Order: sequence, then structure tokens, then C-alpha cells
Amino acid sequence: MPDTRHTRLLIIGSGPAGYSAAVYGARALLDPILIQGLQPGGQLTTTTEVENWPGDTEIQGPDLMVRMEAHARAMGTEILQDYIAELDLSRRPFTAISDSGQRYTADALILATGAQAKWLGLPSEEAFKGFGVSACATCDGFFYRGQEIVVIGGGNTAVEEALFLTRFASKVTLVHRRDTLRAEKILQERLFNNPKIHPLWHHQLDEVLGSDMPRGVEAVRVRDVRTGAVTEIPAEGVFVAIGHAPATSLVTDQLETHMGGYVKVRPGTTETSVPGVFAAGDVTDHVYRQAITSAGMGCMAALDAERFLAEHTADTAHAAE
Ligand code: FAD
Ligand code: NAP
Repeated sequence: MPDTRHTRLLIIGSGPAGYSAAVYGARALLDPILIQGLQPGGQLTTTTEVENWPGDTEIQGPDLMVRMEAHARAMGTEILQDYIAELDLSRRPFTAISDSGQRYTADALILATGAQAKWLGLPSEEAFKGFGVSACATCDGFFYRGQEIVVIGGGNTAVEEALFLTRFASKVTLVHRRDTLRAEKILQERLFNNPKIHPLWHHQLDEVLGSDMPRGVEAVRVRDVRTGAVTEIPAEGVFVAIGHAPATSLVTDQLETHMGGYVKVRPGTTETSVPGVFAAGDVTDHVYRQAITSAGMGCMAALDAERFLAEHTADTAHAAE
């Protein structure tokens, strides 16, 4: 069993929230350790152009995250490729155990575990995951050159995925359960002006249809939510883009949550229900869920942690003995 690593500040997550917390935590001389998790760089590594990061009219999501990582490292953060499997917040120092068995203890902790793609929960969706069903157009779009694709959803992600997929697909059908999109107006305009994209309003996905040998998608069965009428649409690819759920499995029953599972923080701060544990980014934000707001909350969390550590240095040092 590897030795226990102790740190004043442990940051879990390597999205905009985690890296921003790391920049501030390192500049406060807290020598933070940041654990990247299974998706180094977070959700923005699954997209292409980001056009709303101030200072960059357009930047590729993965490039932005490489720059954030380099920045956090240059300021003195120790960045580790590891995944936290267990967390004990019942007493300080807090304990985190990674899936490799490494044990970390921390006087303060920032939870920046972000969010994960939601699925519809259909058995046929599950059966064809990785074989024609995906939640990441930038990862898998390339496989559908000259083919027909269906995208499910009506938010920013669905519209961006549909637009991106037109680079490869011969036709993209956007299936949405209403006739109004949530996506930003500028994205909607691009969508409606793209001749390869065909919106299908008031429909939901009922079943993904395909073959076993070789395993692959051939069509989808969709239902009109007003009339119940069922139609089949030929498609080799199905991209599910119906939103994201906060990644809170580490803290279930340890931190107060609200609004369908988001970690609850004291308004105007990043303080969770456990003193010394701070939450930042999509894991706590059910409203804005943007890179810039996540980064802002990462900054707040590091400042809150710094203040907490300054006030509790004596008891954390004592508890660690
Ligand atoms: P995330 O980016 O979700 O990162 C979470 C991190 O936590 C990951 O690094 C993960 O590995 C880590 N983690 C999770 N569990 C563990 C664990 N147990 N142990 C260790 N680490 C763990 N926003 C914009 O502002 N502009 C855009 O153009 C834009 N485009 C988007 C396109 C797509 C396709 C998607 C899905 C989202 C987009 N967003 C965009 C939203 C933006 O990506 C998120 O708001 C932002 O990434 C949230 O940052 P975060 O740091 O809170 O979490
Ligand atoms: P979202 O905004 O929550 O939208 C989810 C979409 O999926 C909605 O249109 C919703 O329909 C639909 N949906 C949800 N559950 C469904 C179900 N069971 N069956 C069918 N449809 C379902 O999620 P998102 O688009 O992933 O965006 C998440 C956050 O990231 C947002 O804050 C967004 O602004 C941000 N983001 C930003 C950018 C950008 O700035 N360019 C890009 C991507 C994401 P209803 O509309 O009917 O509810």
C-alpha cells in the first residue's frame, strides 16, 4: 500500500473550476494537489470551438484546457493522473482514496467534479452504446462520414453537436420533444441556416434499431408526443445530448444537495454543509453551467479555502498529529 500523501488543499477535478482553484490555491502558497479524474480537462475536451471564453474570440476546447493545466502547474500545483474512489468527510483532515489505493489526507478540500452526460435510459440505447450510440460528437463524429445521424435534445449541446456533425454526415435530424430550443439564439440561427440539419419537433426517441452481426445502428423509432404516432428514421449514428447531471457519487450522504442532486453551498460562497469542504463549478451550479462561471467559482473556492485554513490552522495541525 503506497504511503499517505498529506496536503493542505486537495482539489478533485480538472475542469475550469479545478484548474482555476489550483491557480489561486498555488498563488496563496497552499501547495495544492489536484486529482484529474478520468476526464483530464473536463467537459470542454469533448467540444470543438469555444466562442465565449473572454479573451479568445475562438479557441478549441481541448486547447483551452491544456493551457489551463499548464497555468496551474506553472503556479506550483501538483497535478496527478488519478481518480478518487472514496472520500471521508466525517473528520479533518479529510481522507480521499484513489482507485490505485493511494491515500490522500487534506486540511481543506475543493470538490470540482463537474457533471456527466445524461442518458435516456432505454435498453436499446444501452445495447448500442459505443456501436452507433454516443454522447460525444467530437469524439465519435468522424466515424459517420457520408451517413445519416440523429441528435436528441434541444439545448446548446444538442445544437452544437448537430452543427459539428454536419462536417461528416450527409443528413442530421435533430429530434426534440418540444418546438422551442433552449440553445442560444446565435446557435439556433446557425442550425436553421444549415441545409443538412432537419429539426423534428414534438418527438421523442422510443427505440434504437440495429443489427447484431456486426453490431450497429440502422434506424431509430420516434414517437410524436402529441399524437402517439410512431415513425422510423434511417440512421447509422444516434447522439444523445439531453443535458448533464452533477457528479456527486463521492459525496452522497456526506454533503447536503438540492435541485436534483447539486451540491448545496451557502449563497454567495462555495462553502458546503461540511466546514473545510468547498464546491465549485457544474457540481454545484444548476443555473449557469458555463466554463467562465465554473472558473469563477474555482477562484472563489480557493479564496474560501485559504480563509478557512488561516482560521483553522491550529486545529488542522492538531488533528493531523
Ligand atoms: P467539468 O468540466 O465537468 O470537469 C469535471 C472534472 O472532474 C473532470 O476533470 C473529471 O475527470 C473530474 N472528476 C470527476 N469525478 C472525479 C473523481 N471521482 N476523482 C477525480 N476527478 C474526478 N461552456 C462554455 O462556457 N462554453 C462552451 O462553448 C461550452 N461548450 C460545451 C460543449 C459541450 C459538448 C459540453 C458538454 C459542455 C460545454 N460547456 C461550455 C459547459 C462547460 O464545459 C462546463 O460548464 C464546464 O466544463 C464545467 O466545468 P467544471 O470544472 O465544473 O467541471
Ligand atoms: P440543457 O440545457 O439542460 O438541455 C437539455 C435538452 O435536452 C433540453 O432541450 C431538454 O428538453 C432535452 N431533454 C432533457 N431530458 C430529455 C429527455 N428525457 N428526453 C428528451 N429530451 C430531453 O443541457 P445542455 O444542452 O447539455 O447544456 C448544459 C449546460 O452547458 C447549459 O448551461 C449550457 O448553456 C452549457 N453549454 C454551453 C455551451 C455554449 O456556451 N456554447 C455549449 C454547450 C453547453 P426541454 O428543452 O424540453 O427541457
